[in-house]
Amino acid sequence: MSTEIKKRIGTVPCPLCGTICAVKVNQRNTLNYVCHTGCDNPGWAKAGTRAHEIISERMTRLEPLPKQQAAPAPVLKQQAAPAPAPAPVVKKMGFFA
Ligand SMILES: [Zn+2]
Repeated sequence: MSTEIKKRIGTVPCPLCGTICAVKVNQRNTLNYVCHTGCDNPGWAKAGTRAHEIISERMTRLEPLPKQQAAPAPVLKQQAAPAPAPAPVVKKMGFFA
């Protein structure tokens, strides 16, 4: 039996079809969304993963982050990180164009 509490914290465009999906977070700071009205694509991202960063960046938050939660990202020195591959852009024009 799950007693997990999920809180809706914002919205994010579905990476597959662009539909705006509600993003929820659970007590372990795992983000979840399901593209209910679009392609039915579910997504989740555990805290600390790249996926979590990506969703966090794209997410439109319902309320701004409290300052205490804005943990400073470690600055990587002497490492020219290659630009992350852009998310696939949905070329399909139609419902959500
Ligand atoms: Zn979708």
